[in-house]
Amino acid sequence: MDCSICSSLPVILRPPRNTICASCYDGAKCVINLINKLQNDHKLPTHNVSPVSPPSSSCKTLTNASKWIIDLKNREEELEEKIDFLGEFAAAFRHRIHTDIQLKPGFDASPSISAHRALLATRSEIFKNLLESDGCKAAPMESIMLPEMSHEELESLMELLYSGDLVEEKLKKHVYSLAMAGDKYEIPYLQKFCERYMLKSLNCGSALDVLEIAEVCSCRALKESAMDFIVRNMEEIVFSPGFEAFALKNPHLSVQITRASLMDARKNREN
Ligand SMILES: [Zn+2]
Repeated sequence: MDCSICSSLPVILRPPRNTICASCYDGAKCVINLINKLQNDHKLPTHNVSPVSPPSSSCKTLTNASKWIIDLKNREEELEEKIDFLGEFAAAFRHRIHTDIQLKPGFDASPSISAHRALLATRSEIFKNLLESDGCKAAPMESIMLPEMSHEELESLMELLYSGDLVEEKLKKHVYSLAMAGDKYEIPYLQKFCERYMLKSLNCGSALDVLEIAEVCSCRALKESAMDFIVRNMEEIVFSPGFEAFALKNPHLSVQITRASLMDARKNREN
């Protein structure tokens, strides 16, 4: 196909024509649909619509596509600056500047971690209530115990609460305890953060753990994805070394896996 967009033929050698190939056509359609979708979701400004185009809120050509992309790029830079600005608070945690509360990990006799009451209260409703219940008569609480977390897990939790992010190595190691903390201390951002990672890294080695965490944290979408994955990789997972321990610990989930797998087999037979 002699496409006027992607053809490698130099412009001067090309006969005048106005055809484009199927891939360029599909690509252009996708970009237009995406721009319209983002505009309807108010993620893109409408002020860039060219003055010659009719006053319509939907985009029908690619005239403004590059303007929109530049706009998004600028916005990304602004957001990055904002993240850097907000990240300065994480430095206050690392260097223990004006910290006013101690967090004690539950097991191992490791030292407690210094943090800021204000940050804990803004990140978690549970911490907020806990700190408010100090009462005006009693001396303010000096420490909070998180009995279910180790020192390392607690440190990762704080890093995440201060900076909104965590290096992959630590996230991989602590994602299950962090997800549980997100559920227990009611921190929706943390729950989503962990959920995204668990979904992205779902594999035969992690699927059973993810299913268990999703059940404990009542996370329906994550549970469905984990269950689907297990059913699709039933043989490898059921004969894996961890399955027996999982089944003993979670008999109800084992029943659900068996049922889902049988339903899937029946569906496949019918098709
Ligand atoms: Zn083309």
